[in-house]
Amino acid sequence: MSVNDLSSYWMPFTANRQFKAAPRMIVGAQGLYFQTSDGREILDSTAGLWCSNAGHGHPHIVEAIQTQAADLDYAPPFQMGTPIQFALASRLVGMAPESFGQVFYCNSGSEAVETALKIALAYQRARGEGTRTRLIGRERGYHGINFGGISVGGIVGNRAMFGAMLAGVDHLRHTHDPERNRYSQGMPAHGADLADDLERMVALHGAHTIAACIVEPVACSTGVLVPPAGYLQRLREICDRHGIVLIFDEVITGFGRLGTPFAAQRFGVTPDIITMAKGLTNGTVPMGGVLTRGDIYDTLCEAAAAGAIELPHGYTYSGHPLACAAAMATLDVYQKDGLFERAAAIEPYWQNAIHSLRGTRHVTDIRNLGIIAGIELEAGPEGPGTRGFEVYRRCWEAGVLIRVTGDIVALSPPLTVEEHHIDRMVETLRDTLSSVD
Ligand code: PMP
Repeated sequence: MSVNDLSSYWMPFTANRQFKAAPRMIVGAQGLYFQTSDGREILDSTAGLWCSNAGHGHPHIVEAIQTQAADLDYAPPFQMGTPIQFALASRLVGMAPESFGQVFYCNSGSEAVETALKIALAYQRARGEGTRTRLIGRERGYHGINFGGISVGGIVGNRAMFGAMLAGVDHLRHTHDPERNRYSQGMPAHGADLADDLERMVALHGAHTIAACIVEPVACSTGVLVPPAGYLQRLREICDRHGIVLIFDEVITGFGRLGTPFAAQRFGVTPDIITMAKGLTNGTVPMGGVLTRGDIYDTLCEAAAAGAIELPHGYTYSGHPLACAAAMATLDVYQKDGLFERAAAIEPYWQNAIHSLRGTRHVTDIRNLGIIAGIELEAGPEGPGTRGFEVYRRCWEAGVLIRVTGDIVALSPPLTVEEHHIDRMVETLRDTLSSVD
């Protein structure tokens, strides 16, 4: 399909006028490659937007969506069910840490975050701790773009235009410490003590005011901030000590990106609530979900009167049949093709390849964990972000899609990535960085 009029579509998170002056149009995708409208193949180093973990156009997933669309396109999700919703929930709970019991469905990562925050608040109230209304996020956290998410999130630019945020929100300091941890491979050694910020908030406000603390196990969208060794354990201990619900936002880290079903298993730290989206359906049909510990659900059920709705929350498209079918087929592929194990197996090669960029012009730091990498560049002479964008543009011209946040390059290819793909990503970046001003 070709288009002449670009004016009507208001593109998300895009400099619209800049894009429309020199558009990049994708018309197809297969495996690790996108096809562009001008007939080029672009290597996908970002799994779309951290979501196409099994690569694009997988026939098993395509077929499952098509079959489901023909059999049952939609049914209202309130006060009635569809078998596939229950089957998927059992499967997801089976992949989660042992204490988890239920899944609540929504349509995106942002909705998963809103849902998780509401569940935490409702749970605290249901167990007789209704004074706990304060929410703790973290600087440089990204939790989607709805009001709860931008309130607990730590990206000032995402909320500056929008006035009042949720009341009673505080932020832990972020864990990025380039002075002590520059060029760390995997988890940085220094900074577990930053988790004690939560203890300080307890001292300041009183534990009886704090409902939940939400963090991304690896903060990806703001430049791949890998948690210092011991940091998440310490956060868990503080939450336990003070009755605070710990939420892991696993919208990116879920579904094998760290070589395990969830980051919780990779780090050996079990939160109380896990948010997910993206890799849940391999990015094919929008879907998000919230996994909760079994006793959170039980507490809310026990607190509600017989016949009452336990959680007054849900979406027209919660558990949409097409999304459930896509998720079931995606989980089949992850399992049959052993993609999580494959990610774990290729991680050492990935780590070495990415860190071979150390010493390349403009590079000031490199970070990695699982099949994720962040490469930080010094800002260009024309100001923050301009060099990053120019690197992005040139890599695209060279046939490789990367992602940049300001001057930080983020890479997260599908878990089907092979060594030769990694080599191409790294060499394209090396050439680009060497030639860009
Ligand atoms: N949480 C995290 C950790 C994310 O990375 C993202 C998206 N990058 C979101 C929430 C929001 O997800 P969505 O864009 O699907 O709303």
